[in-house]
Amino acid sequence: MATDLGRSGGLLRPRAARSLLSGIARARWLPAALGPLQALVPGPRRNSFLVVALHLVNGGTGLPVDIDRSEFEELLDSIAEYADPVSLADAMDGSESHAEESNGGKLRFVLTVDDAFRNFSEEILPLLVERDLPATLFVPVDFVEGARAAPLPCDLPALTWDELREIQSSGIIEIGSHTCAHLNLPGMKLNEIAEDLARASETLSREMDREISSFCYPRGLWSAAAAGVVGQFHETAVIGGGRWVQPSSVDRLRIPRFPAKSGCCHIFRSLLGSRVWLQEYVADKARHSLARRGLY
Ligand SMILES: [Zn+2]
Repeated sequence: MATDLGRSGGLLRPRAARSLLSGIARARWLPAALGPLQALVPGPRRNSFLVVALHLVNGGTGLPVDIDRSEFEELLDSIAEYADPVSLADAMDGSESHAEESNGGKLRFVLTVDDAFRNFSEEILPLLVERDLPATLFVPVDFVEGARAAPLPCDLPALTWDELREIQSSGIIEIGSHTCAHLNLPGMKLNEIAEDLARASETLSREMDREISSFCYPRGLWSAAAAGVVGQFHETAVIGGGRWVQPSSVDRLRIPRFPAKSGCCHIFRSLLGSRVWLQEYVADKARHSLARRGLY
């Protein structure tokens, strides 16, 4: 729906459409608009899994993706009541019958953390270790190497390669690629995407001494053409979109996630009962529409 608003001949003039899409993309007034509808969305199907996207915990940045420690713990408690923790690889490995056999069709969840801030080892990892929760950490190579600024508007430092190796040695954290430059892939030429992904993949597998099978699109922005390139380097790739995942039917290069945002953790318990989080689903469509116009 939102994707048609700004086209020429659409319902609104370009500037009005842009400002409407920006509001939706940042989810400024969507909660009020979509709240009553959310209760009507059916629950997740048997065997499905939920992927949570985290960025920062207690980082003190004031960014929407920087959540308090108490919110993080509440989020983990809510999900644990509802679903079993698994790694991304195990979740995707489960064909319908395998999942049915192994866990009786119970719902599962996967934790992912983007951007490789040192905040991960300071605030997030201790809680994951304490609860024995597996997670995938997506690393933007140029940020770790000091060649580019942080992928979020803040001055928090990146993890170092030594710290990343130590994190990997915990045995519960998989290291994934988040590209080198953390640019919007749909806005790049295919050969530029391939160059960036090849360098990221080579650097990460050398530094981590293992194959890098998981990938995360910067800012969740993907296109069919970009996914074609990603598939040459990685087994699985995650996006946004706020939907539960059905392993038998999901596109392994476009696995949806629920973003953890400040102020949203208290509603997670109710969101878990819906197969789609409408606010995030619509905001994600708006972000892609803006990105196609070079405005996001
Ligand atoms: Zn990122």
